[in-house]
Amino acid sequence: MVSSQNQLGVTVLGSGSKGNAVLVHCGGEAILIDAGFSLKETRRRMAEAGMPEDMLRAIVVTHEHDDHVRGLRVCANYYDVPIYATRRCADVLRRRDDKLGQLALFAAGSSFSISRFVLEPFSIPHDANDPVGFVIRCGERKIGIATDMGHANAMVKYQLRACDTLVVESNHDMNLLAASTRPWSLKQRIMGRH
Ligand SMILES: [Zn+2]
Repeated sequence: MVSSQNQLGVTVLGSGSKGNAVLVHCGGEAILIDAGFSLKETRRRMAEAGMPEDMLRAIVVTHEHDDHVRGLRVCANYYDVPIYATRRCADVLRRRDDKLGQLALFAAGSSFSISRFVLEPFSIPHDANDPVGFVIRCGERKIGIATDMGHANAMVKYQLRACDTLVVESNHDMNLLAASTRPWSLKQRIMGRH
């Protein structure tokens, strides 16, 4: 899924109960959405995808479940990048790991920037502390990311409607990737409860 390095693109390093990590990249910079793999495994998967390590600018957490944050502190330290999370998610993460240090906070509904990326976080229905999905923009292109959704409610569908590319995962053992050229009816089916 590596597109031209200059355009906004997405590389799923892995998804499912063993670990989740999605690299969003544009113009030689990248942000990592979730760090569910060990540092060793994250490095191996980035190398395999042809992604240089120095392109990483931040790790952004969707929610606190272990398969999304297993490598969080170690990866953030190694790549020397800040961690972004919602306040409730950050509270849980810091309670669990007192070495985590300061996190950058964001809130669903308020867009924010990390280097050249503009992120629009939105709430998703999932059994976690303030879980979010993202619409991420760089230049003219938009990518939608929503993992671990049991189902897509109207708000999620609205948020993801105008994206060029969607990364959607649900039900923990179904790894789904919907590409941009598919009709909305199909995307809706992929995002459905089943
Ligand atoms: Zn989860």
